Amino acid sequence: MERENSLLPGEMAEPLLHWYDNSARSLPWRSDTSPYRVWVSEIMLQQTRVGAVTERFERFIQELPSVTALAQAEEEKLMKLWEGLGYYSRARNMQKAARVMMERYGGRFPSAYEDILSLPGIGKYTAGAVASIAFGVPVPAVDGNVLRVFSRLTASREDIGRPEVKETVGDMIRKIIPGNRPGEFNQALMELGAIICVPSGAPLCSRCPVTEFCSGYKQGVADSLPCKTAKRARRRERRTVFLIISSRGVALRRRPDRGLLAGLWEFPCEPGWLSQEMAGLALRGWGVLANRVATSVNAFHVFTHVEWEMKGVAADSDAEALPESWRWADTRALRETIAVPSAFRAYLAEALRRME
Ligand code: SF4
Repeated sequence: MERENSLLPGEMAEPLLHWYDNSARSLPWRSDTSPYRVWVSEIMLQQTRVGAVTERFERFIQELPSVTALAQAEEEKLMKLWEGLGYYSRARNMQKAARVMMERYGGRFPSAYEDILSLPGIGKYTAGAVASIAFGVPVPAVDGNVLRVFSRLTASREDIGRPEVKETVGDMIRKIIPGNRPGEFNQALMELGAIICVPSGAPLCSRCPVTEFCSGYKQGVADSLPCKTAKRARRRERRTVFLIISSRGVALRRRPDRGLLAGLWEFPCEPGWLSQEMAGLALRGWGVLANRVATSVNAFHVFTHVEWEMKGVAADSDAEALPESWRWADTRALRETIAVPSAFRAYLAEALRRME
């Protein structure tokens, strides 16, 4: 961020907090700011919309209400509670962190910023959010919303994807964060970015509490900010997804422990779009005898770096045995215990429809 704009007046805090007190959305993790709840909400909200998180947050807290409960949870239960949120490694890292807290801190959340930062899966943003919101430590929590707000406030044309820019914004916040309400100040900045200084389309400056401090607004350039380098185009992959259904349920296969959707259950897939004949060969290759092979639903899923274009194949089978790392899942298991990644949502619905 440019030097001339690098000092935002500390007075910005007052109108911002006043606005936050009166206009913030009522969200379940805001009513009780205990560190465990703040942490769970912050991890869930990474790369996931608030709307998708709210209900899952309540269920997660109900089922795993403490660091101890999370540390001791069965993996399958944890994955089921995370179902639909994506980026499952976040949940696994949370469990690792909970186990570290059991060992080092007797199951308590540490209150010092550096100690929080040292836990698995916790970066500067999350450590700053938990330390400031739950423990009142005056440290910044710079996420994408805050970066965008500061880029506009300072009329900076620097690329907000660069780590140095994040550091600079953090330094600016350290200078103005009020010692008596650091958590609310950080949340107010995030909230401003989420509902006023919005990511898509023009910012809603006429409703903004800090227009008088905003260089982007005064210079009439806010709409063109922030600057960020274009993301690399995602790779497209074609896949054939198999719904192999027998009287025991539908066949699922465990994914490898590394890489995309690591360790999760999936419907068996093959690369490319297979003809019916090739699909029959794939089934035979797995040792699964099918009575009937037919086309099923098509679906599309976007991951961070790759897109899957999926065509479905449905196979009725009398098979008893399945290859290693496969299992049968009946409707109850699919609904209650097994987490199936969102990428397969259409196939999960189709499997349930065919089995019921
Ligand atoms: Fe964002 Fe407009 Fe507020 Fe500036 S005045 S912070 S551009 S909403």
